[in-house]
Amino acid sequence: MAEQGVLYLVATPIGNLEDMTFRAIRILKEADLIAAEDTRGSIRLLNHFEIRTPMTSYHEYNKVAKARTLVEKMLEGQTVACITDAGTPGISDPGEVLVRMAQENGIRVIPVPGACAAVNALIASGQPTGRFCFEAFLPAEKKEREEILEELKEETRTIVLYEAPHRLRKTLQILLEALGDRPLSICRELTKVHEEIRRTTISGAVSLYETQDPRGEYVLVIAGRDRKELIGARQEAVRAEMTLEQHMQQYLESGMDRKDAMKAVAKDRGMTKREVYAQLLEGEQDGQDHI
Ligand code: SAM
Repeated sequence: MAEQGVLYLVATPIGNLEDMTFRAIRILKEADLIAAEDTRGSIRLLNHFEIRTPMTSYHEYNKVAKARTLVEKMLEGQTVACITDAGTPGISDPGEVLVRMAQENGIRVIPVPGACAAVNALIASGQPTGRFCFEAFLPAEKKEREEILEELKEETRTIVLYEAPHRLRKTLQILLEALGDRPLSICRELTKVHEEIRRTTISGAVSLYETQDPRGEYVLVIAGRDRKELIGARQEAVRAEMTLEQHMQQYLESGMDRKDAMKAVAKDRGMTKREVYAQLLEGEQDGQDHI
């Protein structure tokens, strides 16, 4: 029986051909088959690096059926290299389905690292890089988009989004309405001649594109919500929703003892336990005064 093949996920440049790695070239040359998202677009890249490996299309619209065919080939011993339009396969690109199916069939999956627009935008954005979330493109469908934006409102990590130029204006307006004004880095045409990294705010970007047309490929890197401010806002909402006595009662009714309830109330309302105790005592005394 032939030895099983492997699946390589090969990153390709996002604009600048010099970002192709030596390893990517070798693996694409040695593979039996290249599964490419856009075979016509990839021909330029392959010709440039004199890669003569046969290519087959693997894209959004054939990803399940084609993944099955590719898995069969790998089970027969062929090595498949998956590439996408640009950048890292699987990042807002087909690839995910193929990887899962390959793994389910015991095929080894090997990543070959290289360019990725999201990561490069993040590192050059000037926004915090320690904690971030990647949202790819905001959904075009309104209800789904609103649900995602609702989640993003309280996101404290840096938010990385992809956007196409023809939707940029609308997206910036939607972001401003949903998230409020925040620091934003616009990362445009990365690695290309017209590369631009502009630190601004969401409202600043809205104004900017009132006077100029969005052009090229964009990554938006948005500051997450300030953690302290978020906690403060939550505590204020709790204080406005119910009195301290009602709050205590709620915890006591849930089965908590008095000491733990006071601790939880203090945390929820942004108070110290001593303050909670004093206020409860004051309330009890007021009650007695009225008897
Ligand atoms: N797999 C790719 C990657 O690793 O970055 C992303 C593919 S996704 C279908 C295409 C989107 O990535 C574009 O609409 C744009 O938002 C972003 N993008 C790709 N190349 C870019 C570049 N050179 N500069 C800025 N954004 C880019």
